[in-house]
Amino acid sequence: MNSLAAALAIQDKMVAWRRDFHRHPEPAFQERRTAGIVAAHLEKRGYRVKTGIAETGVVGVMEGARPGPVLMLRFDMDALPVQERTGAAYASEVPGCMHACGHDAHLAIGMGVAELLAGCRQDWGGTVKLVFQPAEEGAGGAERMVAEGVLDDPRPDAFLACHVWLDRPVGTIDVRTGPVMAAADKLVCLVRGQGGHGALPQHAVDPIVAAAQMVVAVQTVVSRNVDPLDTAVVSFGSIRGGEACNVIPSEVELTGTIRSFLPETREMVIRRTRELMEGVGRACGVGVDLEITPMTPAVINDLAVAERLRKAAESVLGTDRVTAEVRTMGAEDAAVFLQQVPGCYFFVGAANSERGITAPHHSPTFDLDEECLAIGAAVMVEVAGSLLARSC
Ligand SMILES: [Zn+2]
Ligand SMILES: [Zn+2]
Repeated sequence: MNSLAAALAIQDKMVAWRRDFHRHPEPAFQERRTAGIVAAHLEKRGYRVKTGIAETGVVGVMEGARPGPVLMLRFDMDALPVQERTGAAYASEVPGCMHACGHDAHLAIGMGVAELLAGCRQDWGGTVKLVFQPAEEGAGGAERMVAEGVLDDPRPDAFLACHVWLDRPVGTIDVRTGPVMAAADKLVCLVRGQGGHGALPQHAVDPIVAAAQMVVAVQTVVSRNVDPLDTAVVSFGSIRGGEACNVIPSEVELTGTIRSFLPETREMVIRRTRELMEGVGRACGVGVDLEITPMTPAVINDLAVAERLRKAAESVLGTDRVTAEVRTMGAEDAAVFLQQVPGCYFFVGAANSERGITAPHHSPTFDLDEECLAIGAAVMVEVAGSLLARSC
């Protein structure tokens, strides 16, 4: 049986798993019910299972019939603090918590892949390491799993992960080589002035005027310093200061995010942002406490693994349904694994405009076309077979 036929044969099960996870979403590092279901499924299928890695992470390891490489497949498990408004029969039963990014689909695909690979264990060589990760959405789940040894014993030779994607129609796969998702850095800046009466600015040092000039000055980093053929983003997300219309406050706090692909661009954008904010601060006579903290590196796909994935996807879906278009300034902590293991992160189309399934990720009306489950699982199994020297 080919990979797509095999995946379609368990499509109903994957839909049921996905809807169950969707009804019972759990936030970062609290994916206990989810992890329990995953661990029980892996054990039942014959995987050696480890739980409690980075709180709720689950790892299942299985050896094939012959020696060979170690392949790591990663699936994320966390939901978001979003109140669902889809009206779906399988809508979240947890107030204020929702699988609004599609990680419920990743869980279902992961459990499907586990079942399919276990079912043809005699046909492949090497080792499969399935990693179900907590806290992908900005809380550092991948980093913690690495710190707790998820890349050891056995050490993976190749890495794969996917994301269901609402910018692409269901029935398609998108895979690119090189950078596909951006590095993210967090900016927090405290602008310290001297408070006073709004009518007597000559007796105060105004942090609001300084902060406003900083925000404007930093707009020149991307427009004037970054190569127009390269790309980066600096966005301020919050600006807080002051309580009353006639009082100059003592402090203003700015926060923001910096996104980039290339390490040298990242370093330059951080340096220029710092120079501008501190320089404007000196000119205005305010104190500037600026912290720029690395969040995640860029997701960079390995050429050889991405090419294997493209070929596998084309053999499952046909060449016209495999594209190389998605590159986003969004961030993804699979990058932490990809820094250490050559691999590929790809996108599984999940939108269906005819059925009105187009709401963006993280929105209260987010949903996906569940046809993407069988396609995601089939491509994962096909590429796993190719990397694990499947004989059938
Ligand atoms: Zn997300
Ligand atoms: Zn996501």
